[in-house]
Amino acid sequence: MRQIFFVALILLSLYRSDLAVSQTARPNVPAVTPASVQRPIDRLPYAPSLDLSAMDRSANACVDFYRYACGGWVAHNPIPSDQASWSVYAKLYAQNQQFLWGILEQLGDTTVHRTANQQKIGDYYAACIDENAAERLNAAPLAPTLARIEALHNVDDLPGLLAQLHLETGVGGFLFQFESDQDFADSSQVIAFAKAGGLGMPDRDYYTEQDSRAVELRRLYSEHVARTFVLLGDSPDAAQAHAATVLSLETALAKNSLTRVELRDPHKSFHKMDRAALGELTPHFDWTRYLTTLGLADITILNVTEPKFYAALDQLLAVTPVADLKVYLRWHAAHVAAPYLTHAFEAERFEFFDHTLRGVPAEKPRWKRCVRQVDVMLGEALGQEFVARTFGPQLKDETLKMTRQIEHAMREDIEGLAWMSDATKRQALAKLDAIVNKIGYPDHWRDYSSVRIDRRDYYGNAQRAIEFETKRELAKIGKPLDRSEWQMTPQTVNAYFDPQMNDINFPAGVLQPPLYDPKLDAAPNYGDTGGTIGHELTHGFDDEGRQFDAAGNLKDWWTDADAKQFNERTQCIVDQYAKYVVVDDVHINSRLTIGEDAADLGGLILAHMAWRAQTAGEALQPKDGLTPEQRFFVGYAQWACESDRPENLRVHAKTDPHSPGRYRVNGLVVNMREFAEAFSCPVTAPLVKKDVCRVW
Ligand SMILES: [Zn+2]
Repeated sequence: MRQIFFVALILLSLYRSDLAVSQTARPNVPAVTPASVQRPIDRLPYAPSLDLSAMDRSANACVDFYRYACGGWVAHNPIPSDQASWSVYAKLYAQNQQFLWGILEQLGDTTVHRTANQQKIGDYYAACIDENAAERLNAAPLAPTLARIEALHNVDDLPGLLAQLHLETGVGGFLFQFESDQDFADSSQVIAFAKAGGLGMPDRDYYTEQDSRAVELRRLYSEHVARTFVLLGDSPDAAQAHAATVLSLETALAKNSLTRVELRDPHKSFHKMDRAALGELTPHFDWTRYLTTLGLADITILNVTEPKFYAALDQLLAVTPVADLKVYLRWHAAHVAAPYLTHAFEAERFEFFDHTLRGVPAEKPRWKRCVRQVDVMLGEALGQEFVARTFGPQLKDETLKMTRQIEHAMREDIEGLAWMSDATKRQALAKLDAIVNKIGYPDHWRDYSSVRIDRRDYYGNAQRAIEFETKRELAKIGKPLDRSEWQMTPQTVNAYFDPQMNDINFPAGVLQPPLYDPKLDAAPNYGDTGGTIGHELTHGFDDEGRQFDAAGNLKDWWTDADAKQFNERTQCIVDQYAKYVVVDDVHINSRLTIGEDAADLGGLILAHMAWRAQTAGEALQPKDGLTPEQRFFVGYAQWACESDRPENLRVHAKTDPHSPGRYRVNGLVVNMREFAEAFSCPVTAPLVKKDVCRVW
């Protein structure tokens, strides 16, 4: 999937295993309602966007505003045993899942009339939840795939096999990732992207770091891979040897992959080339066979995002015995199929990727995994049901109005910037005017009519739905862009900005209490959802987004002097956040988080401007002992309340471009004089800074 900038990282991808770096003793299971006794719900519960019980008024706002606004929330909301972390977003997401569960239980009833889409999502869920059926089949559903891998006799036949595996799984775990995306140079066109991939642990750093923690983690990963081979029927000795082969191949790929910080520079991943050039780069890989099997024989141009990776891959193919390649492919086949096989496979996957890496004590109950699958596989069919129940025209109008107000605030802000020249301002305003606001749900729903869903064929359903989605993505190659498409489903509790589409996207799922609360007044809503809208908007102008123009092309529209000013201003934020500790001795990698940190700050400044404009002339009154200004800031902070397991914090420090919630609050308000004024903070207070960082 393309690089998009979202507000919070709370969802675990279904396909790409999550990762972490530490192993500790199993933490105590906190006393919360066990997931096993949860029930489906028929409406989303209400919680206010400013929650007094979430505050800790014994804390000094000028010393630790995060604790002041969120201390109560943290105390009252222990991390559930099946979660790596817990937050306001995660809690809303969990309620959202329970609500979707209710919808799917209802639509699983075959005795009532169902539309074609209702049949598909209801029966997908019903097939998934039938654990006994999956147990009876054991690993049999995977047998045809393993047989095809076993039939590989020489490396010349690899491209055809690999293309088939890519089509069936839609993941980048098999040596590399192949997908469609907008041409960086001409955003109106979709072209093929050949990307780096091939890893089990999704970040390359886990393979390259040499500290004792990293070495221990690789040992544990290797044991996990070996145990998975045993589940496939290998002897323990053979499984150990096979795991070593997998780790060796993945390490070679990781060493030749770009880091996450390097990938923030789009120029580093833009290398358009024709088929001949690609052939020269990888003489040991027959692209014609690969592309023909994908049904893309006519492709002439590709973006090979990391040529160095492909050169290394080619070398690897030249020297690696076919038997070793087969071992590697078998591992990834089992790894991606684990959620759809017997519980033993999923439990093994959980043990390493969730328990060891993230410190999660307990597996998610099956219903959660099944709801999540329907969300991923048939997301817009489920989305139609969600929208019909939760997102009326009034809510759409209100949130669209707020979005336009914040865009207006950004216009005023840009016009008034002392450090930016008129030439760059004109370009910035043109880009701002071109941003498309997508609110709630797409104008056109995805057509799932060709996906057959059978309530007695869980594995087959997953395979058909994945293949449908992979083919749908690949079919875009060589065609003009569809600008109406969304990258998130309507029920998603998140939002994003897409620099190539130049649009901001707010799914109906994120425009719900406590994030957007129609029952409360403007102050907390502008602080919370207003701040998020501003956050997404400023992504269009952050270190990465600013490199794309109004049409979404990778094109420099800044004068050199303005670019220098911009970089100096963001460096102030980079230096500030680099001082913050995530866990133990691990600091924020602020060159990775700079886009998000700058978007948080810019976003809240814009939201504050928009709130002031919206309430101009109104006699705002204090409430619950808080002034309107204070309520704006508490409303902001309370979206970020969270608790994290230490293991998970270590993962985030490596992979998450967002800073921990504590610093998304304290690190931000220290740069807003409006905050210090609102709480009458003395100049000596820790959250008052003489030289504030400010970009927008
Ligand atoms: Zn963001």
